[in-house]
Amino acid sequence: SPALVWFRRDLRLSDLPTLLAARDRTDAALAVFVLDETLLAPSGRRRTAFLAGCLRALDADLGGRLLIVAGRPAQVIPRVAAGIGAGSVHVSADFGPYGSTRDAQTEQALAAAARPVPLVRTGSSYAVSPDRLRTQAGRPYKVFTPYRRAWLEHGWPRPADTGPDSLAWLDPAGFDGRLELDLAAEMLGESTVDIPVPPAGEAAARARWSVFRDDDLLGYHDDRDRPDLDRTSRLSPYLKFGCLHPRTVLADLRGRTDPGAESWRSELAWRDFYADVLHHRPETARGNADTKFDALEYDTGPAADEAFAAWCSGRTGYPIVDAGMRQLRAQGWMHNRVRMITASFLTKDLHLPWWRGARYFMTQLVDGDLPSNQHGWQWTAGSGTDAAPYFRVFNPTAQGERFDPEGDYIRRWIPELRHLPGKQIHRPWRLPGAGQPALGDDSGAYPQPIVDHADERRIALERYRRL
Ligand code: FAD
Repeated sequence: SPALVWFRRDLRLSDLPTLLAARDRTDAALAVFVLDETLLAPSGRRRTAFLAGCLRALDADLGGRLLIVAGRPAQVIPRVAAGIGAGSVHVSADFGPYGSTRDAQTEQALAAAARPVPLVRTGSSYAVSPDRLRTQAGRPYKVFTPYRRAWLEHGWPRPADTGPDSLAWLDPAGFDGRLELDLAAEMLGESTVDIPVPPAGEAAARARWSVFRDDDLLGYHDDRDRPDLDRTSRLSPYLKFGCLHPRTVLADLRGRTDPGAESWRSELAWRDFYADVLHHRPETARGNADTKFDALEYDTGPAADEAFAAWCSGRTGYPIVDAGMRQLRAQGWMHNRVRMITASFLTKDLHLPWWRGARYFMTQLVDGDLPSNQHGWQWTAGSGTDAAPYFRVFNPTAQGERFDPEGDYIRRWIPELRHLPGKQIHRPWRLPGAGQPALGDDSGAYPQPIVDHADERRIALERYRRL
């Protein structure tokens, strides 16, 4: 009997171990993707539009044979499996709070069917899957550096030798409940998305990787913190949807010990680390990893809401913060250094809860990913596992001067400040006649700072000390 290959966050055909597992049992398979409304509702439009592009690319690679069905996976998958008389259903394991519950429910439903079918999990979207690594005492890691050491020692298998021809793909035409690709893409907001999303799919991911590897990897160690240079890989959306597996690129880096390759490998370890942390502590998707922060005092009320709106729209009067928030709006992506600066500003200068900013990021990011986002935020806020110490408050002006030395990044995103030469751009309030309008002003001029960083820093530290 044929197999059912259920695609989720592994939207590729090369280096996909699930295909090998299916081929161990059979030659023929049906490829299915479930449009799951539970996941679509909270996903930003940018992310679902990018997903639509990934599904188009996957369908093309499958020779037009991707079955798309809308509904709840625990109902849809057993129905599709029964429809083709499948002998097994194959997935890459999902370790997220929702994904693991969904899979357990689907597994139960498959087992309870008139003709029970196993759900076979092979691999995951991580180089080292959550729960693989434990400390010597047998506990999950809480600190990154020892995790990274164990991660490097553990290593990862070679890429799986798979591709479009690994299985004979069944034709889904006429399948009951089949959604046309164009209709699915419409439901995913492909035509109504508010930004140009990056080219999607496996081929685009590989092309991006080759360009980064050949042009920017060598200098990554030195350049990665510089948003003006913009030389990071921009692979995050592809990794998020599994258009490219980290194992594939890590294999490409085998033997490279230059600082660029070493640093970049470490970034992939952060991705796995946060997935591991969230797997063990799913409650940290919503709450503080360090629960002593639960008592932290936040600003509330109309003034706090107005400050939040100014932050979202890139009108805080702090150029590096505003440049980042405008990049996020325009591209659905923000440079990592600036993600830290904007997150620090929201939590420590505006005294707003990290989850408010994290939620906004998730509506805007094409690469929005629960473990990396929620823990990136908590790292900055100080409440995370192995977080930046609470007393480390980023000075947004000094950060701008250090990481965007000539102000080119700011100039790219803030047209109102483009006329300012060189470093002056970091302190526009010092210039005669500059930026008189204040918060709420919509004259189009660049605003005055909505808060005084030195004062807010003091307030933040006092509140932290009280914990
Ligand atoms: P590169 O520098 O080329 O890094 C390569 C890959 O390593 C990235 O694609 C990513 O998969 C991984 N990576 C790099 N840095 C980190 C990190 N700090 N934590 C975890 N993984 C990392 N990353 C997301 O993928 N999705 C998010 O929703 C997300 N939200 C974040 C929110 C905040 C407040 C912060 C501080 C960081 C967040 N990050 C998130 C991590 C990081 O900013 C992005 O992964 C990175 O900017 C993506 O760009 P890149 O692919 O060019 O990265």
